[in-house]
Amino acid sequence: MPHDAIAPGTVWLVGAGPGDPDLLTRKAERLIAAADIVFYDALVGQGVLDLIPAGVQRVSVGKRSGRHSKDQATIDSLLVEAALAGGRVVRLKGGDPSVFGRSTEEMDALAKHGIPVRICPGITAASAAAASGAISLTLRGQARMLTLVTAHARAGEPLDLDWPLLARQGATLAIYMGRAAAGEVGRNLIAAGLPTDTPVLVAVNVSLPAERLIRGRLDALAFLVATIGERDPALLIIGEATRPRPGGHRRASGIAAFEARSAS
Ligand code: SAH
Repeated sequence: MPHDAIAPGTVWLVGAGPGDPDLLTRKAERLIAAADIVFYDALVGQGVLDLIPAGVQRVSVGKRSGRHSKDQATIDSLLVEAALAGGRVVRLKGGDPSVFGRSTEEMDALAKHGIPVRICPGITAASAAAASGAISLTLRGQARMLTLVTAHARAGEPLDLDWPLLARQGATLAIYMGRAAAGEVGRNLIAAGLPTDTPVLVAVNVSLPAERLIRGRLDALAFLVATIGERDPALLIIGEATRPRPGGHRRASGIAAFEARSAS
């Protein structure tokens, strides 16, 4: 058999990429087309959802869809139920399932019931943001380390991150879920030793029609994120690697790039 088939009673955790359906893998598209039921997150792009054939059942389990949002235990049991009923189940997740995708929770829940699980990778937001911003996440001699970190804070609680580790120079930080805590992130990184003028790229709605790239410096991070909507996914990339290349780059028409400079 040339391809992995999707067997009845199996769950595939499938990376949907950053939103643009052209950034979906061929394998993901094939799995979606062969599924009986697709469970998807709020971050999965509309263009990707449009690829789900009309006859395939689709269930939103988006954590950001307000009162319709389902908690993780509910999602786990929906997946278990669908697989035990003999369905070909696709669990579609934004970006790559292995990056802040809670894939292990779902795999563990399914394993308890002896349900086979497979994973199809996707393009994570950091890769897509680097492409849109025409930068590299690593840079010979200047960024030998890439850290993917989440700055999602519980309401009212300070972030519990290892700031001295994150503030190491010669590295790139890709901060997921960091919009709300951006000011706190900037202050802590500077307090831990990162230069105030470290370049930052804030990538919003990457690969979607509403894509916006905001450039600036670390001490203006709170200001840079101020105009981003609460529901718009945003990735903060920090480090020398994000500095625009000499001569800049020409952006494809139709995608607006917004440049912001530090207030200082
Ligand atoms: N598994 C996903 C990440 C899920 S966490 C992945 O691999 O990309 C959700 C966070 O991912 C968002 O808060 C945001 O920081 C980032 N993100 C996902 N899609 C994005 C997009 N299209 N543009 C910008 N950031 C995105």
